[in-house]
Amino acid sequence: FPEKEKAAPVAKIKVVVRKRPLNKKEVSKKEEDIIDIEQRSNSLTVHETKLKVDLTEYVEKHEFVFDAVLDEDVSNDEVYRETVEPVVPAIFNRTKATCFAYGQTGSGKTYTMRPLPLKASQDILRLMHHTYRNQGFQLFVSFFEIYGGKLFDLLNDRSKLCMREDGKQKVCIVGLQEYRVSDVETIKELIEKGSATRSTGTTGANEESSRSHAILQLAIKRRVDGNDSKPPRPVGKLSFIDLAGSERGADTTDNDKQTRIEGAEINKSLLALKECIRALDNDQTHIPFRGSKLTEVLRDSFIGDSRTVMISCISPSSGSCEHTLNTLRYADRVK
Ligand code: ADP
Ligand code: MG
Repeated sequence: FPEKEKAAPVAKIKVVVRKRPLNKKEVSKKEEDIIDIEQRSNSLTVHETKLKVDLTEYVEKHEFVFDAVLDEDVSNDEVYRETVEPVVPAIFNRTKATCFAYGQTGSGKTYTMRPLPLKASQDILRLMHHTYRNQGFQLFVSFFEIYGGKLFDLLNDRSKLCMREDGKQKVCIVGLQEYRVSDVETIKELIEKGSATRSTGTTGANEESSRSHAILQLAIKRRVDGNDSKPPRPVGKLSFIDLAGSERGADTTDNDKQTRIEGAEINKSLLALKECIRALDNDQTHIPFRGSKLTEVLRDSFIGDSRTVMISCISPSSGSCEHTLNTLRYADRVK
């Protein structure tokens, strides 16, 4: 990396919106694109069709401004450059960075999130092999999910995990497999393995994954003065979180009891997440981690020098208007 990139100040919290293209199904149902993006001013407008009392239609416009708005033609490479790339150098200097994908099921969270850890690890390995050559840095990968308030290791056949706090505000996930990696190919295999484990649920791919939060962590550690007998010391961390479908938090009145419990947990975790990010932004000393499993797990990522990137994914279609407005309002309140 050039020197200026290392020194560039990076915002503590960045909120980015990404719109996906209309899909075939939406086109065949004659749904319309109701989202206008103005990349230059970082703003977007939602055109909501409403009915008057006499049942004539009118359009209500809702305008939002974010740190960046990414239109449907923006590539995954550009998304990386806009979101995660700027925070990568800082994790060699004790920073913990967290990138969330938020939005309703089908809005593009997984599509957006999946390539990011691989691109980030390419940059991390490059820094390790050049700028920080022979300085004892090591890279570790772990991948787990939170489903119904419980933790499962996606790199170890979904084995159940428990969480422990060490009294020094450090969270420890007992039994979580952490793989030391030194080449991109291995990282790629691990990401694919974990993603496949996540989606092979009982009720079909997107259905199952929409009810869980998937958390992939890249941890930088360092060997203390070449001493191979001591475990390496944690330095910084980069977490990628593919959140549960935001509409799932509303499943609290579903006929199925299990679905209701999961819905309540998702609702609680998304609310707690919003509160934690807001508290971070206001430099509050008390951060309400205890609100949910998700925020408890992320506790050490919110303490000290932390960076948060929220990518809000939205569908362009008229049929998703209500969910899209909910997603944008959530993103608006995080800021
Ligand atoms: P989610 O994880 O939010 O449920 P997905 O990432 O699975 O949504 O996306 C739903 C579908 O839309 C997938 O088939 C995906 O390939 C497609 N898709 C999502 N975002 C984009 C995009 N920006 N460009 C093209 N296709 C996309
Ligand atoms: Mg998904």
